[in-house]
Amino acid sequence: MRILVQKFGGTSLATHEQRERVAEKIIKACREGYAVVVVVSAMGRMGAPYATDTLIQLGNAANPELSKRELDLLLSCGEIISGAVLAGVLQRMGFDTVCLTGWQAGIITDSQYGNARIIEVKPQQVLRYLQEKKIVIVAGFQGITKEGEITTLGRGGSDTTAVALGVALQAEVVEIYTDVDGIKTADPRIVKEAKTLENITYNEICQLAHEGARVIHPRAVEIAMQNNIPLRVKCTFNNNPGTLVANRKGVLEDTTVIHHDRIITGITQISNITQLKIETKDYEDPQIQLKIFKAMALAGISVDFINVYPEAVIFTVRDEVADKAVEILKNMNLHPEVRRGCAKVAAVGAGMTGIPGVMAKIIEALTNEGIKILQSADSYTTIWCLVAREDMERAVRALHQQFLLSD
Ligand code: ADP
Ligand code: ASP
Ligand code: MG
Repeated sequence: MRILVQKFGGTSLATHEQRERVAEKIIKACREGYAVVVVVSAMGRMGAPYATDTLIQLGNAANPELSKRELDLLLSCGEIISGAVLAGVLQRMGFDTVCLTGWQAGIITDSQYGNARIIEVKPQQVLRYLQEKKIVIVAGFQGITKEGEITTLGRGGSDTTAVALGVALQAEVVEIYTDVDGIKTADPRIVKEAKTLENITYNEICQLAHEGARVIHPRAVEIAMQNNIPLRVKCTFNNNPGTLVANRKGVLEDTTVIHHDRIITGITQISNITQLKIETKDYEDPQIQLKIFKAMALAGISVDFINVYPEAVIFTVRDEVADKAVEILKNMNLHPEVRRGCAKVAAVGAGMTGIPGVMAKIIEALTNEGIKILQSADSYTTIWCLVAREDMERAVRALHQQFLLSD
């Protein structure tokens, strides 16, 4: 049995017309001889009646402190509604289709509500239906703990469901269908001329996904990379080939050509960041720096962009936990300088290691645009700059232009 997993995102399923386009993609794959497993997200984005954001609002309206367990239960409904409706469309077209919840499809997770990790996949039920020649639709983004509790996999987590099922079912390829042509050199909402990459290595897409290119969930890429399963990111609304994610290796007659990662693959951005600066030079306590970071860890606050100097500590947190972080610091008798409304832009390239001049080009591009760099950091694959939120789009476009990433 040749198995194909196709995942359709919320923007591909928002209207009846779109769901018919989705059905056409599924039927085409069936006609090509594949046993097809379809993973769906909740229908539409913010404002659509059964979209994840709408369900979050519904829960918050009932109780802003709604327990994580009940919130997950509520959110899991979005994907179930989507799957059942799509099954209806296919059945009406005459195709034998079943829709399964994440737990019926054997997606077993840990018990971290809201951001659960898949720990096991038991695909027997899915396989049984495939053997009966049915199209199997699986509600993405959800699973069940060993204790029988329902969990969700973190925003964008349907990608992870699709890849995990693809691995468990030994699918030939996992196709991720979305509203853009594939993986691009920047978010096309910010850089209109961003180029669609024909192919990309796991390493490269992993970096992009971690840095905020939300076109694919980073955990989905990690599972694909560990298991060496190819992914293809494509658009639901055209027949373009999209982007192939695989380990690039070309065979040329009797020579194997290993292609290297690009110096810069793309530009990414993450907004809603708050920068905190704490002067520590007047504190007698030699442990003060350690105490700051221990206090953040104890409160479950993840810190980023960390710079520790003899006289000060600077780091960033997500906006939504900024008030909590400030309160903790004030309770320690510290006086943080708070800069809200920042964004992190990054030039990502798994091949930039050891290449001189990348930072100079970044500073040149941003300075020429009059954009102030509030902080910077680098690793062997990424250079990050913190900028004011209102400069974010201009910064992304300037960096994209500087590294000549469009056609
Ligand atoms: P889906 O509902 O299909 O899961 P998402 O909104 O999660 O869709 O992801 C698709 C969106 O990702 C695109 O509409 C695009 O704006 C955004 N995006 C951000 N960075 C990139 C990138 N580098 N390449 C392609 N799309 C990107
Ligand atoms: N519906 C979920 C979300 O909006 C999961 C997904 O779309 O992949 O995050
Ligand atoms: Mg997504």
